[in-house]
Parts: sequence; C-alpha cells; structure tokens
Amino acid sequence: MRVTDKTPVLIVPVPPPPKVAFGRGCYLTDVNGKLYIDGSGGPAVYCIGHGNEEVNAAISAQLERVAHGYRQNFNTDALEELTEIVTRRCGGELQHVLFNTGGSEAVESCLKLALQYQTAIGKKSRRKFIARERSWHGNTLGALSVSGFLERKVAYEGALIEAIRISPVNAYRPIAGATPETLAEIAAQELETAILRHGAETIAAFIFEPVVGAAGGCVPAPDGYAKRVRDICSRHGVLMIADEVMCGAGRCGTWRALEHDGAEPDIMSVAKGLAAGYLPLGATVYSARVSEAINHQPQTAHTFTGHTACCAAGVAVQKIVGREKLVECVASNEAKLRALMVDALSGIEAVGDIRGRGYLQAVELVEDRATKRPFPAALKLFQQVRLQAFENGLICYPVGGNADGVNGDIIILAPPYNATDAELAEICDKLGQSVRQVLARI
Ligand code: PMP
Repeated sequence: MRVTDKTPVLIVPVPPPPKVAFGRGCYLTDVNGKLYIDGSGGPAVYCIGHGNEEVNAAISAQLERVAHGYRQNFNTDALEELTEIVTRRCGGELQHVLFNTGGSEAVESCLKLALQYQTAIGKKSRRKFIARERSWHGNTLGALSVSGFLERKVAYEGALIEAIRISPVNAYRPIAGATPETLAEIAAQELETAILRHGAETIAAFIFEPVVGAAGGCVPAPDGYAKRVRDICSRHGVLMIADEVMCGAGRCGTWRALEHDGAEPDIMSVAKGLAAGYLPLGATVYSARVSEAINHQPQTAHTFTGHTACCAAGVAVQKIVGREKLVECVASNEAKLRALMVDALSGIEAVGDIRGRGYLQAVELVEDRATKRPFPAALKLFQQVRLQAFENGLICYPVGGNADGVNGDIIILAPPYNATDAELAEICDKLGQSVRQVLARI
C-alpha cells in the first residue's frame, strides 16, 4: 500500500495490557505465563534488570528500620551515602544534590534552581528559558513548558510558561545548510543568536538533553557542540542545564552523559537509571557556585525529597553498578549492540538511521530512504511495531513524532547494562522480526 498524507488515520487497536506477574533479570512474565524480554528497560529505566535480590534486600532492610526520615527532622545514612556516590560519580563542581521522586520533578527543580540563582545574584530580569525542539523534559507544567514534543503539549497550550525554542541538533536531520562537519558550530551559533535576540539579561538558562531520548530517538550531540554551548552560556551569564534523566547514570557509557563531551553543566537532572526502577527516584545535581549563591538553601523541596527507602534503593543499585563495572561494560559493548542491531535490521529498506550512544540506541524508520521522508503519522507505525514486538515477547520503546513533531517513527532499545550477549542477540533478533512483520503488512 502506498501511503500519503490523505491516508485515513489507521486505528491501531491497543489491547489492554496484561497483568505482570514477576520479573527476573532481563525477563518479565505476565499472569498468563507469557515471557517477555525487556529490551528497553521499560522507558530506559531498569538498568540492572528486574528482581535483583540485593536491591530488594537493601530496600527491605531500610523499611524495617524506617521508611522515611523527613528531611526537616532527620538526616539518614541512605541520603548521606547516596549523596557521596552521586557527587563522586559527577565529580568536578557538581557537588550538591537534591533527591526527588522522578525525572519531571528533577527537571522542575533544575529550572527553579536556575531562577533562584539568578534572583540571588541580583539578576531577577533573567526569567526565560531556552530549549530545543524535539526534546522531552517531563510532564509537570514547567518541565512540559520547556519540552519540544508537540503532541504532548497541545492540550495545555496557553497555560505553559514561555520558552524560547531553537532547532534540534540531529546529524540525520540537520539544520538547513549544515553538514555533519558544521552542525555543531551552526547549532551552537543558533543558541547564541537566540540569547542576543531576546537579550542576555532576560535569559535564566538553556536546557538540553546531551543525548536526546524519546522525543528525537537517541540523538547524541555532534562532537564539540556541548563545549561550545558551555562557552556561550558562560559568556552570557546563562546557566547550562543538562537533562540526563534518560541518558545519564551510565546509560550512555559514562556516568554523566556529558562526560563524553568533556563539558560540565551548572545544573543537571538524573533519574531513571539512578534507582533502576526499584523505587521512584530522581536527582537534581548542581554546582558549588550555584549552591553558594543561594546560600545552600534550595527553595524547591517536597515532602518526599530525599525519601529514605528510595535513597537506599539508589545506594544498592549504584553499588552494583560500581562493583560490577557496568558503566564500563556499556561503553565497551556499545559496538557489539550496534552491530547486532545493524545485522538484525539489514536489508530493510525502511531503515533510515540507526544511532545512539552506549545502551541507548534507536532505529528510525522512513518511507523513503533517499529523501528521509517519514511514514505518515496516520499510520502509527511505531505503535504497530510496539504491539507486534509485544506479541513476539519483546518489550521495546517505540515513539512517534521525532521527524517534525508529528511524523516520524523510532524504536528505542535500552537493555539492562548487565544483559548477556545471548540476551542482546535475542532482543535484536526479535526487533528485526517485528519490524519486518509490520512492514510486510502495510
Ligand atoms: N527528561 C527526560 C530526558 C526524560 O526522558 C523523561 C522521561 N521520559 C523526563 C525528563 C521525565 O521523567 P519522569 O517521566 O520520570 O517524570
């Protein structure tokens, strides 16, 4: 079938999800006994697999003592230990941490800290944020406001805070006129132009994902981009916020994703892999300079900030990640995972691009490889792949809209860092099989 913009919207029936029974390592079993291999760690969360007994025992031990020592009354071992681990992993100036309950809350605190910092240094005129299209920063109002994911924002238009939007930075779909060699410079220049056009004195911070996750489909920034951004932000008094909710905590082969680029942000968020989905946990990490300016008093805490059992889960996960050298493992196995994907998808005409970093890899499907024209959104190809893969016993993470906010189909793989070679091969084989089955139908 030849699909066009006039193709009627295909209603892809989405069956209600089955109940999950239990998970062990890379595998999940539903209540009907069906086995699934988790090729994406849900939405890039379960980085040490499911059912880890050491983590479960650490959480139970904490719950036996006390679930949560509320921060205004108590400090806790878990909080201290996790703070030490995260600040050691981040290194450099990033020596202050606020633990929260997930990615959106972590980003929300990044934005608020930036505003608090600007107020504290006497720059209250700096209220605006700059962010990129095809980015996702979360579902709370502030985080949603800076996100560039059209479909998820439409219902809230008019109520979101104003954010200045600049182009996505994607070598496969570069800014008009840019080549792979010039993209970093042109994209960074666009940031500086936006700062100058709106007036540096009005800009609080620039927020971006060092490796764009769901909204772009595992898009690493080109070499040199982050360093240029660092320089531009510093020169104009604009804080640099790295949203590492998805790409951080080792997912891309370095604990901080931006480590790869040799750049240090002023503020960063990290979440998904931090406690690996065992309990809800995110963190906002910020520099000594920011902390000193606000007199070490961040005004962005919640009831469950630094929740003790969640921090205990984070400590247990991070001890395993460190002891088993799982970040190093991701870095050294990246090429293997990529080769397995390339092999499993070979010969499929609709494969436009395979990209990513570490264990955050995606395939982008296009209707026309030469022009990179995406399949029409109406086809909901990504959704069809999700359902077919699920049927085949593979959990992957397909998302739509990456090409222009509406059209585009990507499928993300984000396996656990400790997946075996056989498990990586099974994930990729099932992905290839599922994509072929769906394409054969349309
Ligand atoms: N930032 C990024 C880069 C994300 O990928 C996500 C979640 N997909 C969020 C923020 C929001 O995190 P959460 O869903 O945990 O609120």
